[in-house]
Amino acid sequence: MRPSLRCFQSFDHHVARQKGISFIGLGRMGSEMAFNLFSKRIAEVNDSHFVVCDAFQQNAVSFCTNFKEQFPGAKVSIAQSPQEAVLASEVVVTMLPSSPQVKEVYSQANGIIPALKQLSPAQSTLCIDSTTLDVDVARSVALDVIETGAQMVDAPVSGGVTGAKAGTLSFLVGGKEYAFKTASPILAHMGKRIIYCGPSGAGLAAKICNNMVLGVEQIVIAEAMLLGQRLGLDPAVLAGVINSSTGACWSSSVNNPVPGALPEASPPCERDYDGGFATALMLKDMGLATDVGKSSGSPLPLGEAAETIYKHILEKEPELSRKDFSSVYRYLRKVAEGGKSLRLGEVSS
Ligand code: NAD
Repeated sequence: MRPSLRCFQSFDHHVARQKGISFIGLGRMGSEMAFNLFSKRIAEVNDSHFVVCDAFQQNAVSFCTNFKEQFPGAKVSIAQSPQEAVLASEVVVTMLPSSPQVKEVYSQANGIIPALKQLSPAQSTLCIDSTTLDVDVARSVALDVIETGAQMVDAPVSGGVTGAKAGTLSFLVGGKEYAFKTASPILAHMGKRIIYCGPSGAGLAAKICNNMVLGVEQIVIAEAMLLGQRLGLDPAVLAGVINSSTGACWSSSVNNPVPGALPEASPPCERDYDGGFATALMLKDMGLATDVGKSSGSPLPLGEAAETIYKHILEKEPELSRKDFSSVYRYLRKVAEGGKSLRLGEVSS
């Protein structure tokens, strides 16, 4: 039988909604976050139930199968639309790729906002969007949600798939303070640090600034690690020097792009750059930064250069798109080994 939300039909909907949590977007991050959230909530609230929803139905089915294997008595169902997910639960978490998907899930005819308009009272509903997306789109969606009487926070995350799995993410939260207070216990089931950044969109603004730093750093660490080896340095020695000197940063000490450079660790480069944070997502985040840089009149010479480099790499080697963004090193090494120079001018704008 295809799992569906129909199993809720015998419930008192108001009581059921109070105890429900819906999670929309069960990709690399969302599936791990939902697992932690649901498993900790079971221990906390009697008779809690969970609803999952994904445009790719198989993701929802796999999640339910996996969760029920670990928690055989758990009530977890699949919603066929975001509307069904909201009608079933007072807390709705979304973890989607970017702005177009958030607009669709919240605003489409069978989306979250039309469903909130059907609910009375909608004010008992809390929407948490953890997607990394455009600040203006997030603010506009939050305004529409709040207009229905519901609460909403933007709560993008830092910590990657490893942090999502371990439940140690950092949440950067934007929204009204009372919405932040309502969201905090839910976020605490998925992360360790929950930082209030300011009004709606502030969590995203902080996230975008942080990721611009990360995107730039990962490129310069790739450059330095390649340069050092060509000057005869052992990668583990060079990484050790950088990690204990003024060049120290996460891109070198945790996500070092050179196999063997961190003998005690296992960054994505040890698995041919599988897992980690996809280069395509980093390019998206650099684009979010440069767009907001332009609209706010803030010059971003390094941010723009880094965006151009990631764009160039994905045009030249599309298969790196799903690999960890530290694979920029693999590309630079290939260019160097081919005796070529980087021809960034070839990138289409
Ligand atoms: P992902 O592509 O693996 O997952 C996105 C999920 O959303 C997929 O399961 C997809 O099927 C689903 N989806 C897409 N459109 C949908 C729709 N209209 N309705 C319902 N479901 C839909 O992405 P991810 O790696 O999990 O990242 C999610 C977000 O988190 C992104 O904004 C990303 O920038 C951010 N993020 C990712 C990482 C990371 O390391 N992967 C780290 C920090 C932040």
